[in-house]
Amino acid sequence: MAERARSAVVWFRRDLRVGDQPTFLAAADAADRALALFVLDPALTGPSGGARLTFLYRALRSLDAALGGRLMVVRGDPADVVPRVAAAVDAASVHVAADFGPYGRRRDEAVEKALVDAGRALVRTGSPYAVAPGRVRKADGEPFRVFTPFRRAWLEHGWRAPADTSAGTVDWLDPDGGSSAVPVPDDERVPAELPEASEAAALRQWEAFLSDAVDRYGDDRNRPDVEGTSRMSVYLKYGLVHPRTLLADVARKRGESSEVYRSELAWRDFYADVLFHRPDSARQNYDKAFDALPLASGGDAVAAFDRWREGRTGFPIVDAGMRQLREQAWMHNRARMITASFLVKDLHLPWWWGARHFMALLVDGDLASNQHGWQWTAGTGTDAAPYFRVFNPITQGQRFDPDGDYVRRFVPELRGVAGKAVHTPWELPDGPPEGYPEPIVDHEAERQEALQRYERVKAAR
Ligand code: FAD
Repeated sequence: MAERARSAVVWFRRDLRVGDQPTFLAAADAADRALALFVLDPALTGPSGGARLTFLYRALRSLDAALGGRLMVVRGDPADVVPRVAAAVDAASVHVAADFGPYGRRRDEAVEKALVDAGRALVRTGSPYAVAPGRVRKADGEPFRVFTPFRRAWLEHGWRAPADTSAGTVDWLDPDGGSSAVPVPDDERVPAELPEASEAAALRQWEAFLSDAVDRYGDDRNRPDVEGTSRMSVYLKYGLVHPRTLLADVARKRGESSEVYRSELAWRDFYADVLFHRPDSARQNYDKAFDALPLASGGDAVAAFDRWREGRTGFPIVDAGMRQLREQAWMHNRARMITASFLVKDLHLPWWWGARHFMALLVDGDLASNQHGWQWTAGTGTDAAPYFRVFNPITQGQRFDPDGDYVRRFVPELRGVAGKAVHTPWELPDGPPEGYPEPIVDHEAERQEALQRYERVKAAR
C-alpha cells in the first residue's frame, strides 16, 4: 500500500456535490487532509452564457456551505493554478473525476504534466458518466456509431453502485484566504427563471419525479404541455447529482417507463462517447458527406435566423419553444427537436448556428448532448435520424401539445385562441391575432427544397 501523505487536493469541476463522490474516498485514502479547490477558468467561464454562469456561482456557494466554508476558489488557468495550490499545501496528489471533453482532456494533460514535473500526481477517479467514454466498444474494439447496440453493450458493461460519501468523508484543510483565493462572484443577472442550484434541490427534484411522474414518463416525456420529465439535465451537467444515483433508484422501480428513463441516460453517455472518439464533431458534420449540403447564406439567412431566435417564425410550436428557451434557459426535448428541425430543414441554415444559440442560452448546455442533439436532428450525425425525415411543425404541435396549452403559456399573443386552433392561427377567420406574425415560410415547399438539397449529398457519397 502506498504511504499516506499529509495532504492532498480535491479539485472540483463538473461534480459540485458531496454525496456519491468517489474522489473523496480516493483523497481520504491518499492523505490525512485535503484542500477543496475550484478553478474559475476563463476558457470555460468566458463562453458559458449568463444562465450557466449564474447557476455555477450559485452551485459553488452551496457547495462551499456544505463544506463548512472551506472551498477555495481561484481564478486563472488551471495549468498554473492547480500546481501552485498543490505546492502551497504540499499535496502529494490532486484528485479529480476524469473529464472527457475535448478541452477538458487537453487541460488535464497540461495540469498533469506540471504536477508530475513537481513530483506530484493527478489522480482520476470516476467521471461524470455512468460508463466513462471509451469504455464501451464493439467486439472488434471500434467505437459504436449506432445508439441501440451501444445501449445494449452499455447495459452489459454496467456501473458501480453509488459511493457512500458526505462532506465528513474528508478532513478538509482551511484554505488560506490570502494570496490567490477569490470570493465566488456575484450572480450574473439573467432574465431567465433558473432552478435552485444545490445538491439538496437536485435530490428533492429527483425524489419528486421518482415518486410520481416516472411511472408516466414513457408516455408523458414527449408532451411539452405537461411536467412529464425529470428536469435533471442541469443537475447532471454540473454534477449536483451523478447518473449512478439516478440509475440505482430507477433500477428499484419496475416497468417500461423506468426502462425508457434508463435509455435517456444512455443517450447522454452515448453522445459523450461519440464526442470522445470524434472531438471534431463538436464543430463539424459527423458525417462528412453532408459537407456537400447547400446551405442558406447572406442577409436573408441572417434575417430568418433572427426571427427563429426571437420566436417570431409564425409557427406557434416553434415560437413557444424558442421563447421557453429565453424564459427558462431550458427547453423541452420535443421542442428542441422541432425548433432544431425548423432551423435546418425549413430555413436551410447550418446546424451549428442553432447549436451556438442554444449553448449561449441553455442552463443545461452540454457540448456533447447539444452538438449531437443538433446533428441527430440535422441528420448529419450518428445514424438515428435520416435526413429525409422532416418534422412538420404543425402536426407536431397538434400531436404533442393537443390542447395548445404549451403554446399559450409561452406565446402571449395567442392566449386568446382556444384549443388546438392555436397551432394554425393563419386559419382563424380574421387571420393571426394582432402582433403575431404570418408564417415566414411555406413548410411544404421548404420540405421539398430540403429533400432536393439532400439529393446533392447523396450524389456526393
Ligand atoms: P428527461 O427526459 O428527464 O431525461 C433524463 C436525462 O436523460 C436528461 O437530464 C439527460 O441527461 C438525458 N437525456 C435525455 N434525452 C437526451 C438526449 N436526447 N440526448 C442526451 N441526453 C439525454 N441535453 C443536455 O443535457 N444538454 C444540452 O445542451 C442538450 N441540447 C440538446 C439539443 C437538441 C437540439 C436536442 C434535440 C436535445 C438536446 N439535449 C440536451 C437533450 C434533451 O433535450 C435534454 O437532456 C432534456 O430535454 C433535459 O430535460 P430533462 O432533464 O427533464 O430530461
